[in-house]
Amino acid sequence: MNDQAHPHRIDLAIIGGGAAGVMVALQALRHARHPLQLQLFEPASTLAEGIAYATRVPQHLLNVPAGRMSALPDQPADFVEYLRAVAAYPQDDDATLATRFVSRHHYAAYLRQRLSEAQQTSVAQLEVVQQPILALRRADDGLQLQFGDGRTAIARQVVLACGNSVRPMPVAGADALPHEQVAEAWDYDGVRLLAGDDAIGIIGSGLSMVDSVLALSAAGQTGVIHVFSRHGLLPLPHAHGAAAEFDPQPLLALSLRGRMRALRQHARDAAARGIPWQSVMERIRPLGQALWQSLDAADQRRFLRHVARQWDVHRHRIDPDVHAHLRDAMRDGRLLQHRARLRGVVETEDGLQLAAHSAQDTLRHWHLGALVNATGVETRADGLRNPLLRQLLAEGLARPGPHGLGVDSAPQGDRLLDADGTAHADIAVLGSLRIGTLWESLAVPELRQQAQNAARHAVQELEAAMP
Ligand SMILES: Cc1cc2nc3c(=O)[nH]c(=O)nc-3n(C[C@H](O)[C@H](O)[C@H](O)COP(=O)(O)OP(=O)(O)OC[C@H]3O[C@@H](n4cnc5c(N)ncnc54)[C@H](O)[C@@H]3O)c2cc1C
Repeated sequence: MNDQAHPHRIDLAIIGGGAAGVMVALQALRHARHPLQLQLFEPASTLAEGIAYATRVPQHLLNVPAGRMSALPDQPADFVEYLRAVAAYPQDDDATLATRFVSRHHYAAYLRQRLSEAQQTSVAQLEVVQQPILALRRADDGLQLQFGDGRTAIARQVVLACGNSVRPMPVAGADALPHEQVAEAWDYDGVRLLAGDDAIGIIGSGLSMVDSVLALSAAGQTGVIHVFSRHGLLPLPHAHGAAAEFDPQPLLALSLRGRMRALRQHARDAAARGIPWQSVMERIRPLGQALWQSLDAADQRRFLRHVARQWDVHRHRIDPDVHAHLRDAMRDGRLLQHRARLRGVVETEDGLQLAAHSAQDTLRHWHLGALVNATGVETRADGLRNPLLRQLLAEGLARPGPHGLGVDSAPQGDRLLDADGTAHADIAVLGSLRIGTLWESLAVPELRQQAQNAARHAVQELEAAMP
């Protein structure tokens, strides 16, 4: 692979070995009928963890019940069967296990096991290369990949599964703070090390905030935890309840305003029959992408400006027990929530001082021992710091997605679009990078389908071109 004159040749290159990339590799191995050469590029030493499943904190749970987390669209019970086989929750029968929100670390182990099984039975060969890909360029005979260590290779098909990027801390002065007083919420060990008697500030109030509160509590935090966000919304709990029986299709023909009105009415109707509003959200869940794609551009903009936060807390819900833990902490004064616009943070003699405007527009100061950045996934194309994505955007192999979110891809299928809007026949993109095109493109139910489609497409193209 070192020989620049004769670069190494790959049939399918999968860039990113988080959950999505591993699902693509798994599906390509399952579908291959010829000895294709597959390579999976991932700089981390352990596959399938990415950001979500790298945590070892047992209190960090999946926010989707185990019964809906199969990596295989055609085998919906597969994750539950894995949990049963490894006796992860021996006290549960299958029905209980399917509804359980299990610890997230099980998920990466599950994907690795399924990948290894597929490797043993496939005619195709998979090599895992522990390198980042820094650039991807069109060459005469395929797509040239540039590795982090300077080597190159030529691939005939590429799948971009680069996943989630961290959003920078949105407060002036944060960059100048001592490293030991700041942590990213996804640096799970780093957050645990902050636990102690001092007050801790968490910026952001979504699912990553929940992770941080749980990790700090488990690590013995006794100081108050302050949560800061502009909107002051907290994740809402899942609920067990009967299904909401209504036809969601007519929603697609309505304006954003009409849809919101109809949804509120469905929630009221459900409540009148003792059915929780969560069942209404479940009913429209399969239409997530269609709901976004059928809004016109002006209504999509309105959604992003006025509805997205509310949508997120209703759509991305948490285990009811975790929600109860947050409520208890708030009731006891261990967790304080602030609706605030952050002004700046400075180091003081004995900690940090954070300044923010409250909802009433008065400037307040908080004395803190440390700060956690829990602002979540970076979705803006101009905020992406991944060198490969920056190179693709800078050189016109990609362009920002609708509303500047992620990178642009064909609404049907998964082809990456170049600066002119032309689809690359040999580059697929999946996951959170497709958020502008699909909106609903983050969670396993979407990823497993996208992974299967991308792998099938690549394998078919490669095998069709064989002599
Ligand atoms: C904290 C958290 C919890 C979540 N919990 C759930 C849940 O319970 N259920 C659910 O369905 N979804 C959940 N999600 C959604 C989650 O995004 C997906 O389930 C899934 O983990 C996304 O996987 P991914 O592979 O697309 O991205 P990532 O997990 O971000 O993985 C991307 C991988 O690509 C690698 N990479 C990036 N760039 C390059 C490059 N240039 N070269 C080589 N490698 C590269 C990275 O190192 C990384 O390992 C959660 C998300 C987060 C952030």
